[in-house]
Amino acid sequence: QATAPEIRPLIRAIHDYPKPGIVFRDITPLLSDDQGFQQTIDHLAERYAQQGITKIVGIEARGFIFATALAYAMGIGFVPLRKPGKLPSTTLQKRYQLEYGEDALEIHADALTQHDKVVIVDDLLATGGTVLAGVELVSDLAAQLHECAFIITLNELPGVERLRDAAIPYYTLCEF
Ligand code: IMP
Repeated sequence: QATAPEIRPLIRAIHDYPKPGIVFRDITPLLSDDQGFQQTIDHLAERYAQQGITKIVGIEARGFIFATALAYAMGIGFVPLRKPGKLPSTTLQKRYQLEYGEDALEIHADALTQHDKVVIVDDLLATGGTVLAGVELVSDLAAQLHECAFIITLNELPGVERLRDAAIPYYTLCEF
């Protein structure tokens, strides 16, 4: 596996967004950089080549940007995990805790089967609530999870430890 591209300079810190005291990691400079974005996707495509991966599962909304590009680069299908009420056919739903309140993710009930081996992609891991809901949905459909991939992990927040405790493999290109 080639070393990960150096994307840290392309992640912008926005202070006090969305609330005072929060440092928001903004991926838009990475997305608008032609080399940075391409190298990110090429790196992930190389990592997951020849692993028997059948689908890339992406989390709404920023996860879609990386997940769809990766699925295209690998020549395999993309499966969306969406916020409630957006998917038109029969869905499975998982609720998860936010700092204040609750949210949920949905997947089409026929999107994956036990013959699928997937990578779940999101832009960023913070508390882990979002991706753990995704992991449960993939497992409810009996698909095999190969790994979760993030562009960024925030290592001071509990997500990293929650994934380790649950023995869920993950990969990240950039740690803060
Ligand atoms: P978690 O559920 O707490 O791990 O939060 C991860 C989700 O929130 C991801 O889907 C991210 O898109 C979003 N998120 C949380 N913090 C940030 C940030 O600083 N930058 C970009 N996205 C974030």
